[in-house]
Amino acid sequence: MKQQLNIVYRNWGISDRFNDGTIELNKNLNKYPKLKKAILAHEIGHTDQPGFTRKDFLHDISSPDKIDNFAMMTFILKHPSSLVQFLPFYYHKQRGMVFDANMIIVYSVIGIISLIGVVIGFLI
Ligand SMILES: [Zn+2]
Repeated sequence: MKQQLNIVYRNWGISDRFNDGTIELNKNLNKYPKLKKAILAHEIGHTDQPGFTRKDFLHDISSPDKIDNFAMMTFILKHPSSLVQFLPFYYHKQRGMVFDANMIIVYSVIGIISLIGVVIGFLI
């Protein structure tokens, strides 16, 4: 049985789906109804399975939902607290440490590439 989704507004980040069926949205998204709708559709598409699942990962990289990148950039520039979304982890007052598997992957890849660059620099 699919559980009821619960939407909670906060004043930072963009959005997160937690496996208790809660979707947290930046309250400033209310000023951008089209963007909010697309983000909400994205979050609804996620599973409530705990941990990092293949299905959720594929949902993030294939992103069938139409999120307008320009509107997203505008939102981020106007609401810099949304940048918290791009951290690999953050501290949530009610939930404790929240880890973002996708961001951990992104930063690991950047870290590995940087390391390769440094190693190559020493070798040549
Ligand atoms: Zn997602």
